[in-house]
Amino acid sequence: MTDASPRKLIIAIDGPAGAGKSTIASRLARKLGYVNLESGAMYRALALKAIEWDTSFDDEAALLKLAHESRIELDPSIGGNHVLLDGSDVSARIRERDVTEAASRVSVHPQVREWMVARQREMGLGGGVVMEGRDIGTKVFPDADVKIFLDADPVIREQRRLDQQKAKGASAQAMGAELRDRDRRDRTRAASPLVAAEDAIVLDSTSLTEDEVLAQIEELVREKRSG
Ligand code: C5P
Repeated sequence: MTDASPRKLIIAIDGPAGAGKSTIASRLARKLGYVNLESGAMYRALALKAIEWDTSFDDEAALLKLAHESRIELDPSIGGNHVLLDGSDVSARIRERDVTEAASRVSVHPQVREWMVARQREMGLGGGVVMEGRDIGTKVFPDADVKIFLDADPVIREQRRLDQQKAKGASAQAMGAELRDRDRRDRTRAASPLVAAEDAIVLDSTSLTEDEVLAQIEELVREKRSG
């Protein structure tokens, strides 16, 4: 169903970790011939820079300065969503546990978020994008053409994450605790907490297959185009 219509849509997919956003967003973008922009990767890249530069995750001014001095690029062209930090491909490094935790800590700061949101708007403005994250439908593109909030039961989300990382035993327990911590921080922070936009379609993927979720979103896109 490649989108040959003149107007390219902006599709926002938000939700907590483990709900299936990344896989769905990337499959949907491929089907539509759109670009998949993973906003979380940008917070992860800044978090990595903070680790490398020994900047405190609690120091908003220093983090903002670091952001201004950094080149964070999402390059969806080379087989998936590659992330470049100051020209280096950090796609694998930013998925590691220390960066994952740091990302959720640097993202609580309002000024850091403002900087990120401005970059994300520039990237998505022309449409033809499936952008995923936590605040795409509420803050980055409140007028997005299609807004999805993809959720799932916390136990299932945790299990999916553990399966993805092939974590077992103590490491699985630690990862589970980290996921719950991150969830809590994302949902309770004062600036742009993780919440479904009022006009988002909430999809619960707990007992749906990936194909079923994708089919439901494709239907919403179809309706939008013909409406
Ligand atoms: O989506 P991902 O797990 O890569 O995001 C990493 C962290 O970045 C999240 O836990 C969240 O704290 C933050 N984030 C955010 N807003 C977004 C995307 C990610 O605050 N739009």
